[in-house]
Amino acid sequence: MDQYSYSQPSSSSVESVKSRDRERDHYGIPMKCWCGGELQLIPNTTGEYQGRLCYKCARSADGCLHLHKFWDKAIVEEIHDLHKKLLERDDHINYLTLGPNGTKVYPSMLSAQIEYHGEEMGHIRQLVREIGDGYEELSSNKGYSLC
Ligand SMILES: [Zn+2]
Repeated sequence: MDQYSYSQPSSSSVESVKSRDRERDHYGIPMKCWCGGELQLIPNTTGEYQGRLCYKCARSADGCLHLHKFWDKAIVEEIHDLHKKLLERDDHINYLTLGPNGTKVYPSMLSAQIEYHGEEMGHIRQLVREIGDGYEELSSNKGYSLC
């Protein structure tokens, strides 16, 4: 492999939740019921999980199937998703700050190097200009042939 070639990070072991569940708000904190109804965060009133906070559709009294999700489960999923996104960002930052030989590159140092090389280029341009001027002066003098 060419020492100057790069490859995108593999997204490695980390991939945020981009599943249909996330798109449909079934993963993490739900925004709306799949029926389009607003959600309420209320304590569960029946069963063994009585008192446990849950997201319930405001239309759930109609007897149809609606979203019902425990608050703590939603929070755990949300934290899990945020953790994955954080790891993805770390991967991306590592990718952006990895030099061609595998060493770490610091953006502030790059800026200083760019500034230094810019000044060097200005100096070289000035020298080339002076050499060009000298060449024209010599070639315009009769009796001298530079070629
Ligand atoms: Zn609903």
